[in-house]
Amino acid sequence: MTEQTGDNAAPEGPRYPDLVERIVNLAKRRGFIFPSAEIYGGFRSTYDYGPLGVLMLRNVKDAWWRSMVQLRDDVVGIDAAILSSPKIWEASGHLDNFTDPLVDCRNCHERWRADKIDGVCPNCGSKDLTEPRAFNLMFKTFAGPVEEDATVAYLRPETAQGMFVNFLNVVTTTRKKPPFGIAQVGKSFRNEITPQNFVFRTREFEQMEMEYFVPPDEADTWFQYWLEERMRWYLDLGIPESKLRLRHHESDELSHYSTATADVEFLFPWGWDELEGIANRTDFDLKAHAAKSGEKLEYFEQSTGERYVPYVIEPAAGATRTMMAFLLSAYDEDEVGGENRTVLHLDPRLAPYQVAVLPLSKKDELMPLARQVLGLLQPVAVCDFDTTQSIGRRYRRQDEVGTPYCVTVDFDSLQDGAVTVRDRDTTEQVRVPIEGLAEEIAGRLRR
Ligand code: ATP
Repeated sequence: MTEQTGDNAAPEGPRYPDLVERIVNLAKRRGFIFPSAEIYGGFRSTYDYGPLGVLMLRNVKDAWWRSMVQLRDDVVGIDAAILSSPKIWEASGHLDNFTDPLVDCRNCHERWRADKIDGVCPNCGSKDLTEPRAFNLMFKTFAGPVEEDATVAYLRPETAQGMFVNFLNVVTTTRKKPPFGIAQVGKSFRNEITPQNFVFRTREFEQMEMEYFVPPDEADTWFQYWLEERMRWYLDLGIPESKLRLRHHESDELSHYSTATADVEFLFPWGWDELEGIANRTDFDLKAHAAKSGEKLEYFEQSTGERYVPYVIEPAAGATRTMMAFLLSAYDEDEVGGENRTVLHLDPRLAPYQVAVLPLSKKDELMPLARQVLGLLQPVAVCDFDTTQSIGRRYRRQDEVGTPYCVTVDFDSLQDGAVTVRDRDTTEQVRVPIEGLAEEIAGRLRR
């Protein structure tokens, strides 16, 4: 079972020119992400998350929640409705402004987002394009059986407005005072003109957003603070520094509500692109909802008798898009013991399985002990239990989905009460007594 590891260095530059394709294939083959409704030929760039994908996506969202809510005392969570009142989107400006410039190619009749194509149709190369017109990205539907103006509802295109319209509810129920934040993770929907690049841009996706309410004169300081915090989060979870940057928006690029925005960008195989937008949204949203609803969306500081509308700093990230970035930056191929392997160097906090328990043989003698080991580990780690094929093949399969540790139960285990723990990245193997194994694994996962 001894193995030697080859080059484990993270891939730099275009080491895999077809990396996106490799990730798409791996995602499908191993149950991370499937094209939706595949048995019907797929459905318009929608995707379903499979057994491993659902674990990994949940890990991404949990890692965010842990850093943004659990480890702080100034941020609370909510989970607002996806079906939402048109009044919210009138007040927020989305009904008027949440548009992308749509152009038609007069030659092949494809439609494109004008700001993404440089005046040339990516399908046929024609420059004969229509003038751009504003296309609203919100999905409109009807709440109830009657399709009329009075029943119009929208699928939320961002989670943020749920935080603004609940501002008073949260302040009165939690007694939080600025600076404090409201966080939310959940689905958003945008009728994107051209969904593309796998789950990078889809019409249905998940966001992780936090609205941080601050006294107006502290907004610049908190904006800087959140830029640094959010960069740290990606680096801590394994995105290499060389593939991450902050890009500040030019003034003509800013949204209608923002005085300062910076994007956290990742070096995707097609170039730098956004993972997260961090914006100073000023008091725009609270004031807009106060004006439309007639409610006073202010903070009253009892100690000074002062009333004010807080400014808002918003770090807005995409969970599904970020999961893709983690997959891309974790992917590598190397050689172990003279054999090629594919490996995902995922941080253990993100890997779908943290441990795989592998009985060396399917023989009856080993199974009870292997199941006992599995039962010991399941409370401390998400475990896979794999009994098929040779042990070498099983290691390869676990490497390919990023499982950091394999625990092998062999015939010696029956005698010495110990198992072999193999490390995904170094392929180093050590013998560990079953008594104390759960603590050993929990300790390694905590590091
Ligand atoms: P883009 O310019 O790429 O359309 P945006 O600037 O409109 O994105 P925001 O409104 O700032 O995006 O949304 C915050 C985050 O939500 C984005 O950084 C991204 O990670 C995610 N996101 C936005 N739109 C999509 C989408 N269509 N598919 C997947 N993730 C998305």
